[in-house]
Amino acid sequence: MTTSPADQTPAMGPRLAREQATMAAMMALYCHDHHGTRRGCCDDCAQLLDYARRRLATCPFGEEKPACNNCQVHCYSAIQRERVRVIMRYAGPRMLFRHPILSLHHLLAKRREAPPLAALKRERQALGHPRDGVTKP
Ligand SMILES: [Zn+2]
Repeated sequence: MTTSPADQTPAMGPRLAREQATMAAMMALYCHDHHGTRRGCCDDCAQLLDYARRRLATCPFGEEKPACNNCQVHCYSAIQRERVRVIMRYAGPRMLFRHPILSLHHLLAKRREAPPLAALKRERQALGHPRDGVTKP
């Protein structure tokens, strides 16, 4: 019997969904090599993956999300960030062979610049308060 908690993660767009799949694949790879897990992840890694998944689902950029290492929003706690960084560094190059497609997307995504969050907010505000069109006398 499985008593999995209700699926509360908000719907993700294709980019976030793919990023989540990449993350899961990388963690499984790391866990397999470091913790001897045959399939999926050990409890520890599964917990981290769950954490990462939540952060991803609530990313303020949504589908415009930059690569996490280009992002100014530090939504991970320092400890979790370091753990993920170690996993990514290990799994990154190995992903090329095991998951070439995901890996390719990941490499492309890495080059994406982070849209400045401040500008994002300003844009939203500007929609409510059009400021331009100020004419000089
Ligand atoms: Zn593990």
